Amino acid sequence: MKLVEESSMIGSSDLFDMMADHEQVIFCNDPATGLRAIIAIHNTTLGPALGGCRMQPYETMDDALEDVLRLSKGMSYKCAASDVDFGGGKAVIIGDPNTDKTPELFRSFGQFVNSLGGRFYTGTDMGTTMEDFIHVMKETNCVVGVPEVYGGGGDSSIPTAKGVLYGIKAANQTLFGKSELGGITYAVQGLGKVGFKVACGLLEAGADLYVTDINGESLKAIKEKAKTTKGKVKVVDREEIYSQEADVFVPCAFGGIINDNTINQFKVKAIAGSANNQLLHESHGKKLQEKGILYAPDYIINSGGLIQVADELYGINHDRVLAKTKHIYDAILEVFKQAEISGTCTMESANKMCEKRMEMSGRRNDFYTPSVKPKWSIRK
Ligand code: NAD
Repeated sequence: MKLVEESSMIGSSDLFDMMADHEQVIFCNDPATGLRAIIAIHNTTLGPALGGCRMQPYETMDDALEDVLRLSKGMSYKCAASDVDFGGGKAVIIGDPNTDKTPELFRSFGQFVNSLGGRFYTGTDMGTTMEDFIHVMKETNCVVGVPEVYGGGGDSSIPTAKGVLYGIKAANQTLFGKSELGGITYAVQGLGKVGFKVACGLLEAGADLYVTDINGESLKAIKEKAKTTKGKVKVVDREEIYSQEADVFVPCAFGGIINDNTINQFKVKAIAGSANNQLLHESHGKKLQEKGILYAPDYIINSGGLIQVADELYGINHDRVLAKTKHIYDAILEVFKQAEISGTCTMESANKMCEKRMEMSGRRNDFYTPSVKPKWSIRK
């Protein structure tokens, strides 16, 4: 495991500056197991913090801290947008997922999570797997996104893909006055767990697709699928996907794909897909607006998976998850409407909506109620 350089250590006053509006940051150190982790809790106004745990060989402590602070803040907004009674949190384990994993390290991490007494719930993220979390679960109940045999909801890409289809419907409704998916052309980037399901949904609705992926098997599979549907598929090169004459660009591969280079190439009228952190910089939201491209904010359109993992704490029910996922349609329509009224870009309008929700919840009267825990709230 890489040791943090002396020179990269940050001073304590800088640490509070970096924390900005975060509530709490916990440094977890266990030399016996080699665990070095940081848990960041951004905001618990809406409920206990929720966020996955990444494992990455960060070069410096500053890199790890910056990442966990940025990601935990993002989770506050995502939870507020999905109305899941959670706040924003995230954890990072500093280490190489290929060489530094041991059951003891994850049990130690679980003990730190448990020591927070229910203030932080976590699960897998980049670099960690469900196998790792089986060890974490021996030490704490504050784990979500667990396998079905452990009472979890299973594959979260299913509700994520459904949510993306609802988000696309909202974009179509706003642009074309009808929410149907068919009769419109899409450029789909990435046919993985989410993208493949979204592409199948679009084809089944009779839409024509341009698709790209670096995995030849996925491309073969989507061409096979198209043989059974009304919609047609055309495979294009990786870099060509941005300049297709399609109505909607559906990014389902990786982040940062909305940048100066791609904005110059886009001919689409809307962007609506599952990828996380699609805007390379905040300013690219404004640039899309200036170009007249309607953007469905990523953290709302891809929140179906979050809705499912949050539902595990009530005892998973897939019909309930689907019912909540359907609200992504209304949430995106509302964001578009507010952006139109205020003249801001849609990302700014989404952020304002979430900030207002957190502020209103914080201002709510905390008057006396009998000590019966409500069935549909995990708040104490
Ligand atoms: P995945 O790894 O299953 O799929 C990604 C796909 O993109 C793969 O098929 C991969 O081959 C392809 N790809 C990689 N580089 C590419 C390139 N240069 N050009 C074209 N295709 C490329 O991941 P996923 O679970 O489907 O998630 C997709 C995106 O959605 C990610 O950004 C993820 O963070 C986000 N997301 C996923 C979920 C979920 O429930 N799985 C939830 C929220 C957000």
